[in-house]
Amino acid sequence: MPDGVCHPASQMEHRRRVLPALLAAFLLVAACSGGDGDKAAGRSEGDSTAGETTAGAASPTAGAPGVGDPYYPGAGNGGYDVGHYALDLTWDPDAERLQGTATLTATATQALSSFSLDLAEVEVSAVTVDGADARWDGPAGGEMTVTPAQPLAEEAEFTVAVSYAATPLTADGSDAFAPGWFGRGGDMFVLFEPNGAPTLFPVNDHPTDKATYSFRITAPQDLEVAANGLLTGTEPGDGVNTWVYESSDPMASYLVQVVIGDLEFEESTGPGGLPIRHAFETGILGDIDPAVDRIGDMIAFYESRFGPYPFEAYGMVVVDTPLGLALETQTLSTFGTLLAEDEDVVAHELAHQWFGDDVSVATWQDIWLNEGFATYSQWMWSEHAGGPTADERAADESANPEAYPLPPADLLKPPTKTDFLPQTGSPPPSRRSSSTN
Ligand SMILES: [Zn+2]
Repeated sequence: MPDGVCHPASQMEHRRRVLPALLAAFLLVAACSGGDGDKAAGRSEGDSTAGETTAGAASPTAGAPGVGDPYYPGAGNGGYDVGHYALDLTWDPDAERLQGTATLTATATQALSSFSLDLAEVEVSAVTVDGADARWDGPAGGEMTVTPAQPLAEEAEFTVAVSYAATPLTADGSDAFAPGWFGRGGDMFVLFEPNGAPTLFPVNDHPTDKATYSFRITAPQDLEVAANGLLTGTEPGDGVNTWVYESSDPMASYLVQVVIGDLEFEESTGPGGLPIRHAFETGILGDIDPAVDRIGDMIAFYESRFGPYPFEAYGMVVVDTPLGLALETQTLSTFGTLLAEDEDVVAHELAHQWFGDDVSVATWQDIWLNEGFATYSQWMWSEHAGGPTADERAADESANPEAYPLPPADLLKPPTKTDFLPQTGSPPPSRRSSSTN
């Protein structure tokens, strides 16, 4: 989870910094829960009435607007499975605006008269299905409905291309618990867990529909771009560069990362020749060297326990913002300056590449599995590295139940912010945090 779910470290120093991240994770879940309720009706932007397309042989019907997740019933969509996303976007830092086309290659799992994409209220200018103009409704309430000119047969592979422009919806970061993307005076990064991806691109936004990704991100020459996967080329243009990244292992949409900023890259080789590449906002590298330098050893240790590292590369991207959380964005975990030097959190996000990213939840209700394994993994690393043992860490955590106000795996709904607020008359959150030692 946004590490949020980086659990408290053994020392109070660590705990004080990490606990807010834990809260952030749950609050992040809570903060998003309202977004799924009001899917549905929206203004029409095509000339459509979103009506039934003439039925083909297989009696095509509309795909469901959600997969029925217990926490987020509207997340994801029914009727198709995405195999690949190609995001071709150009960043205008002055306007803080991304503009371009997202092309999804998908397979229909039923005969479809129309289907939904999860998409925030960006400005859509064109939609095609298999190259032919399609009608669309929305986006509104987090959904856009696409009606192809011809129904799609069950098992048909199709492409849907959406041209649009978007600006950061959580632009100033003032609400650290709202998933989305953060524009900061011409730079940007994203934190999507659990359901923020539709703020950046049209998506089947649920972990049960993983896909591969291609990123073609164009930005002015004085900015650099980092994204999931491997950089396969940089194409110079007129005052701009186009950065091409390929993420060839299937990835859940909440694990997408695109960072545009003044970045420095550091490349090395990990166990078995694994490419390790970090991206740091200029000027902050010196502060975070120690934890970063141990990543190769951490990978080797986890491989000895869990099996081979599951992806094509690993690294950290560290933005020059004091984020109280980190996120296990696939192949490129995301940190701010507060936690990037915290070895416990660094070990936690790395462990998520196995538990959470490679092996994923079927429903958001099971998110505790991601966090349980990643937390235990960071304790294993602590023990391996000569710190407190996993037993000691577990005992330490158990002795501080106030650090975990909600029971794991026993939630019928996402926690809400009020679940974490102090009771009337009890100490404020800051005091409660520091009392968990
Ligand atoms: Zn976590």
